[in-house]
Amino acid sequence: MSDADERARRRAELDAKVPEVDLRNGHKGICTWAQTNGEELHPAALEILGEARRLSEKLDDQTVTTIVIGKNAEKHAQTLIEYGADRVYVISDDRLEYYRDLPYVRAVVDAIREIKPEIMIYTASAIGRSLAPRCAARLHVGLSADCTELDIGQYVSRKKNQRFPRAFMMKRPSFGESKLATIIGPWNYPQSATVRPGVFHPLKRDPSRTGEVIQFTPKWTEDDWKTEVISFESEGSRVELDKADIIVSGGYGVGKEGFNMLRELVDAIRANGQRAELGASRAAVNAGFISHDHQVGQTGKTVRPKVYIAVGISGAIQHLMGMQNSRTIIAVNIDPKARIFTVANYGIVADYKEVIPEMIKKVREGYKFNVE
Ligand SMILES: Cc1cc2nc3c(=O)[nH]c(=O)nc-3n(C[C@H](O)[C@H](O)[C@H](O)COP(=O)(O)OP(=O)(O)OC[C@H]3O[C@@H](n4cnc5c(N)ncnc54)[C@H](O)[C@@H]3O)c2cc1C
Repeated sequence: MSDADERARRRAELDAKVPEVDLRNGHKGICTWAQTNGEELHPAALEILGEARRLSEKLDDQTVTTIVIGKNAEKHAQTLIEYGADRVYVISDDRLEYYRDLPYVRAVVDAIREIKPEIMIYTASAIGRSLAPRCAARLHVGLSADCTELDIGQYVSRKKNQRFPRAFMMKRPSFGESKLATIIGPWNYPQSATVRPGVFHPLKRDPSRTGEVIQFTPKWTEDDWKTEVISFESEGSRVELDKADIIVSGGYGVGKEGFNMLRELVDAIRANGQRAELGASRAAVNAGFISHDHQVGQTGKTVRPKVYIAVGISGAIQHLMGMQNSRTIIAVNIDPKARIFTVANYGIVADYKEVIPEMIKKVREGYKFNVE
């Protein structure tokens, strides 16, 4: 046995002697918040449900509950069940077609008080980032924001002489992505986290799944309705990186002119009936080649398309963490030592000016990327 193994064995032996504590006080199972936009379900609602299902296998109570709020919210209940929910708390109100902090916070907090989950997961979307900390503050619990990995595992506090066999391990990048911090908080329930959209996989839809649907009415007061939505304006040119099957991303190496070529490639793919979008690295955004809503990575979007084509991108860790879970990665870079090649399935060491026109030609001749 190596020294390291021996140390681990001794640590495990000592840990086992620390008394197990359970401070859950009746909190059981996992709950998620299923975001809606207007009358549509946000794709991340299904992603966190899939992750909740996976985590629930490590808990003693495996019930997964989800809270859905909005106008006609009940229409999403069966979909949520088919994607992994055992129970759906439906809070349906015509006034909640669009998000408002006060009535939403009351609704989620009231529902959590009734459900009493041991874990609560929100999406770290713009709305989730407003909702989750407000709910956590009202419930007097902690919140780990922007997590990229979740797990259940043993946490031993030698100082407090406490052992939690099933603590919620909330992991998120810190120190400019150089470290992955694990945050725990098994002293207050629900242990709560927001997770980045696009990080987790939804489960395969199972139309045979059944579950319980609960119509829930929060104890709203007049104060909760003090604000009024006058109108809702959606951004005209929304970049839908999360909906694209194929993302063609450009980096600093392609320059402004190169982005025109990448746009041509995206247009050609779309003309073939495939869903494509233009992505970018932060260096390209900072240089003004393209707007921030195209940025992929730590301070941009996390994506997992079927095909990700990285052109003139070096592969800094902050970029990789936003795209490395794409199904197939094709990298084009003039430098054979570029880090992007460490995650690429297909690497092309060449000047983009030689490769991209060839790709455009092939796509215009009818070539389709495999997105099945
Ligand atoms: C806190 C923090 C957050 C960050 N968040 C993000 C983020 O969200 N997203 C992100 O992308 N970055 C982010 N960054 C920046 C990141 O560290 C890198 O600086 C950035 O990703 C580099 O972009 P790039 O690869 O386009 O540029 P470069 O590193 O300059 O690489 C350009 C590449 O182009 C290649 N090249 C040059 N000419 C050609 C050619 N003719 N044909 C083909 N290849 C060519 C070069 O070989 C090189 O590999 C963040 C940094 C920090 C500190």
